[in-house]
Amino acid sequence: MKVMKFGGTSVGSAQRMKNVAKLVCDGQTNLVVLSAMSGTTNSLVEISNYLSLDNKDSALEVINKLYNKYVGHIEELYSTPEYKEKGMALIKERFDYIRSITRDVFTSFEEKIILSQGEIISTGMFHLYLLEQGINAALLPALDFMRTDENGEPDQQYIREHINSTLVQNPGYEIYVTQGFICRNAFGDVDNLQRGGSDYTASLLGAAIMADEIQIWTDIDGMHNNDPRFVENTKPVSDLSFDEAAELAYFGAKILHPTCVLPAKSNNIPVRLLNTMDPQARGTNISSVQYRDRIAAIAAKDNITAIRIHSGRMLLAYGFLRKVFEIFESYKTPIDMISTSEVGVSVTIDNTSHLDAIVDDLKKYGMVEVDRNMVIISIVGDLEPYSHGYAGKIFSSLTNVPIRMISYGGSSHNVSILVKAEDKVPALKALSAGLFE
Ligand code: ASP
Ligand code: MG
Repeated sequence: MKVMKFGGTSVGSAQRMKNVAKLVCDGQTNLVVLSAMSGTTNSLVEISNYLSLDNKDSALEVINKLYNKYVGHIEELYSTPEYKEKGMALIKERFDYIRSITRDVFTSFEEKIILSQGEIISTGMFHLYLLEQGINAALLPALDFMRTDENGEPDQQYIREHINSTLVQNPGYEIYVTQGFICRNAFGDVDNLQRGGSDYTASLLGAAIMADEIQIWTDIDGMHNNDPRFVENTKPVSDLSFDEAAELAYFGAKILHPTCVLPAKSNNIPVRLLNTMDPQARGTNISSVQYRDRIAAIAAKDNITAIRIHSGRMLLAYGFLRKVFEIFESYKTPIDMISTSEVGVSVTIDNTSHLDAIVDDLKKYGMVEVDRNMVIISIVGDLEPYSHGYAGKIFSSLTNVPIRMISYGGSSHNVSILVKAEDKVPALKALSAGLFE
């Protein structure tokens, strides 16, 4: 069985849903994971925000606008009166439920329920469409098998047991459809895997059923070797190792959610990034194969804050780094890049919610400087010591770009540099010219 995941844009209109239906009916048994139609989750967040501010009128206004959009989708998606009626019944029921929540006291519990409706609606509509086309399809509620543990992490054992028993109880279907993103938490309440989490659902399910492969369908022909929004003539990378893909996803490649790689890697299930607009294109194949002697791709991660701690006390001392890192740990703030010298250390963080407190604590140990609005540029590929020459190429490409930090050697497939936001695009272009042309 394959897992095929389609994102919000891929199911963003009735016509696009029809295209997806063609893609999933390929003569094999597939488990199809869908996001909400594009824009829907944002509207649901907006509704929740209004309700949390006790502004019921504005919430209802957004609800009604969204409802009217869906009435149009239903009209366009189905061709028979019978299925138009079923489609309307589905969205009436869902929107009545959302409206009933506006009458409750609003807590994070209600918020999670509202956020879950986008995927419940898109999969319900898609399932009905498959039935109308005469396809033998089953709709499997993700809330029956997707679950997180006490730490909010996916409970992989639970997921494995429950998706497999659900499939056993529903034998003989050609297509199984389920929701991305949504799950229950350790207490059984409705929850989610965070924004963009449908990729994670696909990967967790692929691992749980030991799928032949996990396909992530978007509207670009795979992971590109640089950011196509800023650099011309980027090309799709045909093959990546799991580690390379994880670094690229984490350091800014938008096509894949960073959490998605690990479950596939642990179970050695290949992941393919494919394009709904060009289904024949090869896309990007992610597997355990390590590719030698090449730079695969470049990605950039914005909104990075760099912190430098400078102290004579670090000279010839031990234990200094531990004290510094403990401060970040106590504020549950992950560090992305580090570089050290004998008298100072620079680190970068992405989450600045505790920045002021962190800086105050760090001041006990030395002088502290903070640079905001920085960008990490990651160059990912085969950077094992034997494949020498790439570091030279990388840095000679960047002769005209001021570099604030460099991190090399932390892994054998990543060099990261930190630059100011205004130097990002010139740096990306210079790297493409120096490494790929
Ligand atoms: N619908 C959710 C979101 O917009 C999950 C996803 O699409 O991956 O974040
Ligand atoms: Mg996505």
